Amino acid sequence: MRFPRIILPVFLVLGVALAVPAPGPVHLVRIDKGIAGLESLFRSRGLDIVQELRTCYLGRLDRDQVAFLRSAGVLVSPLDRSIAGKTYYLVRPDSDGALAVLSGRGRVAVLEPDSLLFWTPSGDGAGAIPASLARKRLAVSSIVPYLRRYPAPAAPTSAAARDPLVGTIVDSVSRENLGGLIKTLQDFGTRRTHTPGCEAAEAFVQNYFSGQGLRVFDVHNVLEGARALVGELRGANFPDDIVIICAHLDSTSPEADTLAPGADDNASGTAAVMEAARILARHPTDYTVRFIAFNGEEQGLYGSQAYASAAHGFRERIVGVVNLDMIAYADRMSEDLDVFVNPASEWLGHRLALDAREYAGLSVKSEVDPSMVYSDHAPFWDFGYAALLAIDDSPIQNPFYHTIWDTLDTLNLAFCAQATRAALATTAILAQPARTGPPPPQRLEARSSFFSALLGTRKNIYLRWEKQADATRFNIYRTEIPHGFYEKVNELAVEGLTFADKGVSSGITYYYAITSIDRAGVESNLSREIEVLPLPPKQTP
Ligand SMILES: [Zn+2]
Repeated sequence: MRFPRIILPVFLVLGVALAVPAPGPVHLVRIDKGIAGLESLFRSRGLDIVQELRTCYLGRLDRDQVAFLRSAGVLVSPLDRSIAGKTYYLVRPDSDGALAVLSGRGRVAVLEPDSLLFWTPSGDGAGAIPASLARKRLAVSSIVPYLRRYPAPAAPTSAAARDPLVGTIVDSVSRENLGGLIKTLQDFGTRRTHTPGCEAAEAFVQNYFSGQGLRVFDVHNVLEGARALVGELRGANFPDDIVIICAHLDSTSPEADTLAPGADDNASGTAAVMEAARILARHPTDYTVRFIAFNGEEQGLYGSQAYASAAHGFRERIVGVVNLDMIAYADRMSEDLDVFVNPASEWLGHRLALDAREYAGLSVKSEVDPSMVYSDHAPFWDFGYAALLAIDDSPIQNPFYHTIWDTLDTLNLAFCAQATRAALATTAILAQPARTGPPPPQRLEARSSFFSALLGTRKNIYLRWEKQADATRFNIYRTEIPHGFYEKVNELAVEGLTFADKGVSSGITYYYAITSIDRAGVESNLSREIEVLPLPPKQTP
């Protein structure tokens, strides 16, 4: 069976080479944003775009593709003429000297003031990047299928009212537990990946997860020896849909082989994940929740890269990823939490901001910034998963960051507990705590049909679903921003197993979820949310 597997691709490649004129070598290019409909141009040609930044995209394009974009008025600048055999890194400069140091060790392009691109003439130049600089490898496959934009929420007050069950869950967060966990983690001395201290810390986290009754496993990357340590709570109604709360447990300092206490960076985030596991283990949820501690973050996001790429390979359905990286240093009283999302994850930033205010009395500064790629949320973005980074301050204000002085006594545990409550609230709300009453409907599906109306094309969206025991009626919810800001569509509760949402806009992406109502009038949690994409009118049946 080995021969056909090897020979077949060779014939395919030859076939393609004979049929199509060679498009020329593939270049790495910078594509400026600032032209409307740029993403549609990417889609129309199936372009290989591998990174989105604030002001530009990076793509691997041949000459014809570059010419196509330029003819549409897009500014395209070459970065490297030939990508074969090279690995590219985004690097965040920590000082004016970083550019000079990198220039002496390989090739550098300044993409944005805080985003450099680094590579070496051949092979993988990761080892040439100074250890103190944060870096992220460019994605390995196109991100074009995942590009999304959402409208701004109409009114922040339209969020669902406080849920007492979520309140109970969140109020279980203990400041003493967080302090104890941070102390234990810092007392391993160093948690630099692959040191005995880090391995002991990994065993501690895994034992803690299994002590809470979680299913424990890990995801490896053989190449870098990186790991994602996973504790899993299986969902009662939608076990194949996963909500992730995560943090990196490794640490660094100039003396990282022997001493890197990493209390804020990132024993704080790891402690929050462990405390969330302790609490949610006592509250069954509809969705599966995974609590994950990564190593290899300080070397290049290797643990999260291993997990996200495996998840993509297994076609895992991940609802959202809450990544906590430094959540316990307060540089002023009434500290706020800084949150970063990419455009496709913007809804998750709104969600956390609402939940932080409602359940933790914490204000959140949520920013859409796809250039903020230097923590474990970023590999999830590469595979189209919604993910956020929560951090005490960016730019970093903690003067002990990456030093041997990053210890518990410099931290503010009240703030850490608030940030943990906020992250736990969002995790719990996305995973839906099980409650008394009917179970949510299953297998929600949608079909659209288009028609011409006075003011252009409209569409009807036909929904159908399956009920579980005890459900007698249903409510239909619609939103343009995933997992929140729902609007009830039906006036009277629906009695059948279908519903037609008639005459909606044909150019908008809608999200639907429905609930069951039992004989006593108790309403269930939401069903799985489905996305109904707009289709061009030419595809009207
Ligand atoms: Zn960190």
